[in-house]
Amino acid sequence: MGPGIEETLLEQGPDAFLLLTADGTIALVNAAAECLFGYPREQLLGMPHTLLLSDDARGGFLRVFGRLGRGSLAGKRPFAAAGRRRDGTDIALEVTCSLVAFDAGTAMAVAVRDGSHRNDPDSGRRLAVSLLDATLESTADGILVVSSEGLITGINNQYVLLWGMPPEMVAAEDPRALVDFIAEQLMDPEPFLAKVAALYADKLKHGYDVLECKDGRTVELNSRPQQVADAIVGRIWNFRDVTSRHRAQDQARRAMEELAEQADKLKELAFRDPLTGLANRMLFSERAAEALLTPEPVHVLLLDLDDFKEVNDILGHHAGDEMLVEISRRLLQCVGPHGTVARLGGDEFVVLLVGCRDSDAVAQRVVATLNAPFSIEGTMLRPGLSLGVASRDAGSMTSSELLRQADLAMYAAKEAGKNCYVHFRPEMLAALLERTQLTAGLRRAVELGQIMVHYQPVVSSEQLAVVQFEALARWEWEGQLMPPDDFIQIAERSGLIRDIGAEVLRRSCTELAPWLAEDPRRSLAVNVSGVQLQHRDFAERVLDIAGWSGVDPHQLVLEVTESVFFDAHSHVIAQLESLRGAGIRVALDDFGTGYSSLGRLQELPVDVVKIDKSFVSMLRTGAEKLPILTSMIHMARSLGLKVTAEGIETPAQARYLMDHGCDALQGFLFSRPEPESRRELAVRHSEAAIAALEGVPLAG
Ligand code: C2E
Ligand code: CA
Ligand code: CA
Repeated sequence: MGPGIEETLLEQGPDAFLLLTADGTIALVNAAAECLFGYPREQLLGMPHTLLLSDDARGGFLRVFGRLGRGSLAGKRPFAAAGRRRDGTDIALEVTCSLVAFDAGTAMAVAVRDGSHRNDPDSGRRLAVSLLDATLESTADGILVVSSEGLITGINNQYVLLWGMPPEMVAAEDPRALVDFIAEQLMDPEPFLAKVAALYADKLKHGYDVLECKDGRTVELNSRPQQVADAIVGRIWNFRDVTSRHRAQDQARRAMEELAEQADKLKELAFRDPLTGLANRMLFSERAAEALLTPEPVHVLLLDLDDFKEVNDILGHHAGDEMLVEISRRLLQCVGPHGTVARLGGDEFVVLLVGCRDSDAVAQRVVATLNAPFSIEGTMLRPGLSLGVASRDAGSMTSSELLRQADLAMYAAKEAGKNCYVHFRPEMLAALLERTQLTAGLRRAVELGQIMVHYQPVVSSEQLAVVQFEALARWEWEGQLMPPDDFIQIAERSGLIRDIGAEVLRRSCTELAPWLAEDPRRSLAVNVSGVQLQHRDFAERVLDIAGWSGVDPHQLVLEVTESVFFDAHSHVIAQLESLRGAGIRVALDDFGTGYSSLGRLQELPVDVVKIDKSFVSMLRTGAEKLPILTSMIHMARSLGLKVTAEGIETPAQARYLMDHGCDALQGFLFSRPEPESRRELAVRHSEAAIAALEGVPLAG
């Protein structure tokens, strides 16, 4: 049987005809197709159909396939495509397609006609539509293109998925129905419908909207005219799901807000002292620097509380804090709104006065107001202070220079007896220089081993003999013996006290070892500063030196002042206790001058109290009633402590103290402190003084 009429028609018909399988492979062509594209049939069969398309149009047919599969009418209408011949030339095509069902599956029948004869004005539009078609599927946006005539000329899969459109609705090709379908999903459909109507009414209009869906999604709508050359041929609707972007933006915005809030708080914190709410050092410096740029007079008042450490140590940190708050309240009241009050840290406050004509009046007011007593937890306190004033009258100065000058003036105020204010004077710089030189000189002396020890005898009331020597540090500077009161503080501030203390102990142990060995009742007393005790190896070093010099620890006494017991470091007390465990005795020096009450005495790890010479000097005739002195002695003795009285200068004082139960006596009456070379002499002098005591009448 020859070919049927249909087959003949297909083979010899005027239009090119191709059959494409679902993957776009050419399965069948007719003679017109061979002729149109210039390929022999054998070269086309089994090839991808893209062979016949210009680069721009590739990919289009598979989408047409998909669209036909969804039942859309769009693919069935003739559309323009750009084809390519075997010789590489492009050819304008007009294409129609339909799906063909086989047993093996679905194929697409494609009828192609040369469209190059169509020089009609529509050809550009057709080409544009086909190009649009090509980009449609390559975007993540949902796109709908509606022609000016109200036909759907483009629609992509994303659009269908975005709105969950049923295929029959898409196939119906009714743009109105699509709009309603979308409106139903919106929180607020009215404005959307109005917007769509407005956009359709005005062909040229561009539109943007953010649509909030009932399911929580946010969709961005962009609509613009579809333009070919100068003509508007339709409208493009572009929908983009921006839910996650919006969420991210929302989160970012919230985070930014929180950050801004925190930054404000941080800034506030960065410039404020949290305890008192006053400005801190940073804010002070900033304000001072600002003020120094103006021609106004600028004054800085620096003040330091006296004995604040003691309040803190004895009454506790809570009381200390309360005191600082009270001080800041009073300062603000003295200074008024034109000054800045800042807390620089600890008990150091500073006042900045800008444009003030009478800084003395403010300084006076500060001293008077702060010094008024107030009560904290039942204890009456009277804050003492030292105030230094520095002023910029003319010339340029930095805020730190001003502060340094005020600091020097404050030091001078302390030395001038506290509770007063002192203006900076250039001579103070010289004094500072001297202190600096002193430190350097002391350091050299320590390095060169020039720290000497003098010994002062201590007499036993019972044995009436010298039973102890107190070792006292001496420094010969520029040909003169410098009293320890002038250099111990410098040594403490510079940390040199550690080496000085060790040197005094080493020398005195070495020099006195033979004398100590003669009688176990004899002892050596050495002064120890709180700074030394802060070093954790202190106890070990002391025991080392004793061991190495052959001194029995039971013959060593360490003299400390009670301030060491207020130290926040508990290891200070632990060290003293371990030293006592090794047999060393601890004496409480300058007893009665500090803050602690007699009641505290029993809590302290001490063996001896040394009654301060200020009490002894109250004794003139030996006949006066001194209840404080006598109760101190009795209290200490009743706690099982030994009592030494120091600073005894007259026989009457010695007699009185012996009669009131002092175990040991020390003072110029017996001997001044002497170097090792004159120690024998000191003993003899003391013995002479003891012998002379026998003639002194007994106190009443
Ligand atoms: P301190 O421990 O209270 O020593 C007693 C001071 O009183 C000594 O002064 C001594 O010379 C003086 N003195 C003794 N008898 C009398 C007297 O009858 N009348 C008067 N007016 N004074 C008397 P010095 O040697 O000038 O020492 C002063 C302070 O320096 C000592 O007071 C002590 O706190 C400190 N110091 C001395 N040597 C050392 C040391 O090696 N280490 C430490 N940390 N401090 C030391
Ligand atoms: Ca002492
Ligand atoms: Ca003393």
